[in-house]
Amino acid sequence: MAKVTIVWMRQDLRIEDHPALDAAAQRGSVIPLYIWSPQEEGHWPLGGASKWWLHHSLKSLENDLRSLGLPLIIRKGKSLDCLRDVIKETNADAVFWSRRYEPYAIKRDIQVKSKLSEEGLLAKSFPGNVLYEPWSIQNKQGKPFQVFTFFWKNCLAKEQPLAPLSAPIGVKGKIVEVDSLHIEDLKLLPTTSWDEGIAHTWKPGSVYAKEFLSYFLEGGAHDYNERRDRPDLPGVSRLSPYLHFGEISVRMVWDEIVKKLGFQEAEPYLRQLGWRDFAYHLLYHFPKTPEEPLRQEFAYFPWKENKKLLKVWQKGMTGYPFVDAGMRQLWMTGWMHNRARMVVGSFLVKDLLLPWQTGAQWFWDTLVDADLANNTLGWQWVAGSGADAAPYFRIFNPITQGEKFDPEGSYVRKWVPEIANLPDKWIHKPWEAPLDVLEKAGVKLGQTYPYPIVNHDEARLAALEAFEEIKAAR
Ligand SMILES: Cc1cc2nc3c(=O)[nH]c(=O)nc-3n(C[C@H](O)[C@H](O)[C@H](O)COP(=O)(O)OP(=O)(O)OC[C@H]3O[C@@H](n4cnc5c(N)ncnc54)[C@H](O)[C@@H]3O)c2cc1C
Repeated sequence: MAKVTIVWMRQDLRIEDHPALDAAAQRGSVIPLYIWSPQEEGHWPLGGASKWWLHHSLKSLENDLRSLGLPLIIRKGKSLDCLRDVIKETNADAVFWSRRYEPYAIKRDIQVKSKLSEEGLLAKSFPGNVLYEPWSIQNKQGKPFQVFTFFWKNCLAKEQPLAPLSAPIGVKGKIVEVDSLHIEDLKLLPTTSWDEGIAHTWKPGSVYAKEFLSYFLEGGAHDYNERRDRPDLPGVSRLSPYLHFGEISVRMVWDEIVKKLGFQEAEPYLRQLGWRDFAYHLLYHFPKTPEEPLRQEFAYFPWKENKKLLKVWQKGMTGYPFVDAGMRQLWMTGWMHNRARMVVGSFLVKDLLLPWQTGAQWFWDTLVDADLANNTLGWQWVAGSGADAAPYFRIFNPITQGEKFDPEGSYVRKWVPEIANLPDKWIHKPWEAPLDVLEKAGVKLGQTYPYPIVNHDEARLAALEAFEEIKAAR
């Protein structure tokens, strides 16, 4: 009997370095299948920015698969039901997929594997989304790591990731005809034009993932270590959404950068890829962390409920220009520089005392790279409640952070144009500028740009006091 394999594609929307697709192509006929099952995502429904990206990513995948002579099959509904339907319609005898590590995905995949195996199918998962699978790195006691440096040392002591696979050169079996929805039927695109800024900034898909990587390798990669903290400079790779959707594999990125720079020079960048693996390691071993603090004492933290403050933060109207620049970059482009993510996160949690989960939720809704592992790690780090987190008492000062990492104020001027004419000296603290300077720059505080919503020095003391409360609860 002819061998027919369904390749169930999820966050691996590429044809290169795809072990599951490669194995399927060597077996016989291949049916690449994408199932839209938002009700199964278990955590938060996909945000608008992610849905926008997914739509275009599927379009790109459709195109890539065409080069192999394969149509992308789209279905909508419960994964197991859709898989069973396609199996029946095509007489498929195997289902392959790349592993995911989010708690809900693990639960679902275990169930799918066991049901399909019971029904006589070959159901097999493959690696493909991380450098080192979460269970393969452990300390001497066989426990997961909670400190990045030790985690990373352990990774580097292992063999370097294998060279990435090429796209299959062909598929052994013949094409199997089967019905498919159109990508448009999934209605992933917004009905209003809010995505204009995002569409202007990004081009999803594997071709552009490689283009971004080449651009980075030719430009910023050499100075990555010096420039990675500067949101005003093009110093980072901006590969995060491509990596999240699997349009490029982390192994491909690793391979290219090591080839270009050599391991030593590439290490600062490889280390960031290591943080990504660390995030999956933590999510796998501590599956409750998207909602609950890893450090239990933080469950007693006296967070505030204040919808008005949350809105002001979301809109980038806090009166702290560096914070507002980050929040507006996020809203306008679906992405924010890592340094700004740390500062806006700290501001939400420590200056406004709002729960980190509300920040994580907003990022989830608005980021094109919204990723449960990375977002959870980032927010728990910012709050001081996670593994290897910033100590709670180390509170980012939004003014000095701006002065240090955006020294000429060009990041602020780009995203907060209403204060763009202020001299560098006042760009990160307009409320301290003399009246005549404000007037000359056309800034009317309280009218064209807000006064700070909190006094940072007072907010800092309040945060430290709140922290004392949980220290007492330990
Ligand atoms: C509060 C907060 C929330 C975050 N939420 C997300 C998220 O939802 N999705 C996401 O991909 N990243 C998240 N990050 C991590 C980081 O900000 C982004 O990965 C990075 O800014 C993406 O830009 P880049 O691709 O240019 O990164 P580069 O500096 O070019 O790094 C290359 C790659 O390494 C990985 N990486 C870099 N920094 C980190 C990090 N600190 N943690 C984990 N992986 C990292 C990313 O995959 C990134 O694409 C968050 C960070 C914070 C502080």
